[in-house]
Amino acid sequence: MTDVIDRSGLKPRFWQRKPMQKLSDREWEALCDGCGKCCLNKLEDEDTGEVALTCVACRLLDDETCRCAHYENRHQFVPDCIVLRPDNIDSHAYWMPMTCAYRLVWEGKPLPDWHPLISGTPDTVHDAGISVRHRTVSEFDKPIEEWEDFIIEEPI
Ligand code: SF4
Ligand code: SF4
Repeated sequence: MTDVIDRSGLKPRFWQRKPMQKLSDREWEALCDGCGKCCLNKLEDEDTGEVALTCVACRLLDDETCRCAHYENRHQFVPDCIVLRPDNIDSHAYWMPMTCAYRLVWEGKPLPDWHPLISGTPDTVHDAGISVRHRTVSEFDKPIEEWEDFIIEEPI
């Protein structure tokens, strides 16, 4: 998740031209498709390491825009929100959503047609049914003991 993204003026297919570690801050942020899936709570099996996705969203996720409601000062409210960076993607890629652009690029895969960098509009991530728009419940309403009842398949 990143903040509202300005993708103007970026070089075409910049993510294919250089390693992730060489992307500028703007390029790095532009990779985020705005799906909101990384802001859903997950359950990790301690024994197998398997990660299950739930539709229980972080308290700051806006279910309409699929953006963080307080991105700039989110750590005041959610101290453990992970800041994904080129130097920590190796440790986090395994739990990121399968369609997350950071994970796809890290895995050497192409971005899908609905990605805003390909389609030219942020709407396509919602139109393609990839985002979490109108699919979440808030963690305010669902205690962690109940999250197992809210496990979902990732929208892909
Ligand atoms: S899952 Fe990846 S692409 Fe989707 S909002 Fe999170 S960081 Fe952005
Ligand atoms: S604070 Fe919550 S909604 Fe905001 S970016 Fe982090 S996980 Fe997503």
